[in-house]
Amino acid sequence: MNDAALKANERELIKLIRFFSKRAALLMETGTLSQEHEQLTNACQNLETQLYTHAQNRLAILDKRERLQKLIEDNAQCPKCGKADMLKKTGVATNEHGWKSNTYRCRRCNTTFTWNKPNNPWHMTSFLEMYIHELEQGVQQEPNEEIRRHTEAAIGQLHDSLDRLRPVLQTSDEEMEALQTKEKEMDRLIHQFKNYLLIEKIKLDVYEE
Ligand SMILES: [Zn+2]
Repeated sequence: MNDAALKANERELIKLIRFFSKRAALLMETGTLSQEHEQLTNACQNLETQLYTHAQNRLAILDKRERLQKLIEDNAQCPKCGKADMLKKTGVATNEHGWKSNTYRCRRCNTTFTWNKPNNPWHMTSFLEMYIHELEQGVQQEPNEEIRRHTEAAIGQLHDSLDRLRPVLQTSDEEMEALQTKEKEMDRLIHQFKNYLLIEKIKLDVYEE
């Protein structure tokens, strides 16, 4: 695994761990590796494995989250010219419901606008729930039977999409929460072990002086 995926405190600890591993290898060559050193080396190796496993896990969860984030494609059109070819995404706006949507500028019309749908699946779920609710209310008052049937079919499809999307988002939310808890644990462990190794390193410096 690439060290670039590591956080700064993890990289710092890995550096220290490598220092002690090298030293242990040297001591082993000269046959002077004490039991205490051996225990330290084992602890280092265990933590290194744990660190990389954690970093790998974090990478996978964040990658999945990012792919979910990109699930929504706007297919935005300029409200003036109705075209999409000259659009440039300019930023993100939050509406009164707290939903985030992308903002665009049409370079043909020199107009800026906020797209009328959320830019992420989490807010899209709430948006669709509201939309379905409006459809359901409207369909009851619809006198035309064909329109009513079509709308009912559309409502059914929307419900199906939502039912598929919700558990995926929930799993991701749970993974993110678990990751944050684990991250805190690891940060504490890294901090403690780093301090311990730093003290061991200082002891060595004094001894070798
Ligand atoms: Zn335009």
